[in-house]
Formats: sequence, C-alpha cells, structure tokens
Amino acid sequence: MADIDSPYPDSLGKLVEVFARLPGVGKRSAERMAFYFLKCGKEEAMDFAFAIRDLRKNLRSCTICFNLAEGEICAICSNPARDDSQLCVVEMPRDVIAIEKTGSYRGLYHVILGRISPIEGIEPDDLKIKELFIRIENGDFEEIIIATNPTAEGDATASYLADKIHPLNIKVSRLARGISAGTEIEFAGLANLQSAFLGRSKI
Ligand SMILES: [Zn+2]
Repeated sequence: MADIDSPYPDSLGKLVEVFARLPGVGKRSAERMAFYFLKCGKEEAMDFAFAIRDLRKNLRSCTICFNLAEGEICAICSNPARDDSQLCVVEMPRDVIAIEKTGSYRGLYHVILGRISPIEGIEPDDLKIKELFIRIENGDFEEIIIATNPTAEGDATASYLADKIHPLNIKVSRLARGISAGTEIEFAGLANLQSAFLGRSKI
C-alpha cells in the first residue's frame, strides 16, 4: 500500500527501503543508490538485478565441503591441482574466501557452517561435523588445519574437533595467533592471516 507520507513515488520508495536494509547503508546512501539506478542506462540497472537473481538461483552448498558452489561440487573440490593431503576446517564460506585471498594454502576445505555455541543452543550435530569425520575416515589426509575464528566459541569448537581427531593419528594444527583474539578470520587482513596460516602450530 502506498505510504501517503513518503516523499518518493512508490517504486523509488521501495528501492530506497530495500537498499537501506543492507549492512552499513543508511537512508541517505540508500537514496543516492536508488537515484543512481534511475539515472544509469537500463542495461546497467538490469545487470545489477540479474546479478542478484543469478546469485540466488545458481549458488548452493558444495555436496563435499559445504563451500559455495556454482553446481554440485565447488571449484576447489573439483580442482585436481589442489593438495588432497591437507584439509582446512573453517566456520563459514566467507572464511574460505579470506584464506584463498592470502594465496598461502593449496589444500582442501571443510566448512562446518557455524561454531559450537551452548549459549545459542548450537551443538556439534547442528553443524557439518559428522560429514567432516566421514571425509577424514574415507580420505587420506596428513594434516587437518583448524581455522575456526579465534573467539571463545571458535576456540571451543577447535578443541572439540582436535580431541576427536587425535585418536585418528592425523596431525592437527591451529592457526597462529597472528590474528588477535576476537578478530574474525574474515576481517583479519591479508598479511595477518597469511602469517597466521604459515605460523600454524600442532595442537
Ligand atoms: Zn567443495
């Protein structure tokens, strides 16, 4: 229903409203963006619309590692040049992107899609941990690198995983504290994350 107090025509008001829902975007920026789409060419505006549609239509979870995938299996799992003796465990697909940007790692990943958090009622069974151990048992990994975030919950998740991997006689390592406690991997900065990765230690 049209808002009679709105200063915008309906379609423009709707666009301002949806942009203002984006993280870090205030009302003024939302308005500026909406006006941009009024001014730019029709093709440019459609490029944006289709990019969002394609993102939601095409992206899904990789059936092997739970990273973002354009089809059944993600680009990393399907790349034969990756080192299949190393497996890096992360919380979310955005952590894979952050680590890939460092260029310091050529192994495989497993995304557990969260972290253990008793306070939020998130138990190991709510995460892709069962799938992780099926992979470890069926794979030929020489090192499991636990790259959960250096937060209280990320650390607790790392300990839980390490305790379960130790009896399997596979080396388990954790990223070095190059990234300060509480800083999420996603925001660690390239150089810090790179040194945390290279300086990882056995746990
Ligand atoms: Zn994958």
